[in-house]
Amino acid sequence: MDHKVILVTIDGMRPDGFLTCGHPFVRTLMDTSSYTLNGRTMMPAVTLPCHMSLFLSVPPERHGITTNTYTPLVRPLNGLFEQIKAAGGISAMYYGWEPLRDVSRPGSLRYAGYLNAYIEDDTDGTLTDMAAARIRRSHPDFVFLYLVETDEKGGHRHGWMSQQYLDCISAAVGCVQRVWEEFGEEYTIVVTSDHGGHGRSHGQDIPEDTTIPMFFLGERFEPGRVLEGITILDIAPTVADVMGIARDPEWEGNSLLE
Ligand SMILES: [Zn+2]
Repeated sequence: MDHKVILVTIDGMRPDGFLTCGHPFVRTLMDTSSYTLNGRTMMPAVTLPCHMSLFLSVPPERHGITTNTYTPLVRPLNGLFEQIKAAGGISAMYYGWEPLRDVSRPGSLRYAGYLNAYIEDDTDGTLTDMAAARIRRSHPDFVFLYLVETDEKGGHRHGWMSQQYLDCISAAVGCVQRVWEEFGEEYTIVVTSDHGGHGRSHGQDIPEDTTIPMFFLGERFEPGRVLEGITILDIAPTVADVMGIARDPEWEGNSLLE
């Protein structure tokens, strides 16, 4: 492995919500990363299809998962977790929504932690604590931290761009800040979202739902550089390049390091 990577997805975070959430680390994140506030996710702009596209680097037309219910792929391909495992890497995943467990195939993870965000309070913060404790102890090559409260407790419950929604983003950005301050030297950090939203829902082919921010922090990425024309399919090839591992030949995204 060349470099270790922490990937954080903040579910349902719109770029304008990120910009106006009021957390002081928003400015720092843009100043220290290569980033876009105009990235594109896939259709349908829904959590499991978009995360499958993130990790498999193919659109829903190829992986076939078009709802939040997982179905095994008719023609399987390796995703990011499987490629890391094949290269001898160690992965960890911390998540607050159970259907997301299928973004990695059984056998791909060394460590995992799950909390039910529908029942527990402050799962974003607690999952960040769990991930941080594991990183301090085991230094996994790849860590995926999935923060769901912005979508569930902000957008769906109170509406996208509501004050409660913005407060959830602010708290999630605070989690990213904690990760960056403690592990930013050892790890490249990638922060993104899976989709936006409008009203109290998402999934339509409109900019409010399909535009996502992406941030890449690490020595391979120029601070403050604005990226153009990238999609959620580009994350897995970029992370693979940072880590120095091979892509699956079927991946359709492009690496930002090419
Ligand atoms: Zn949602």
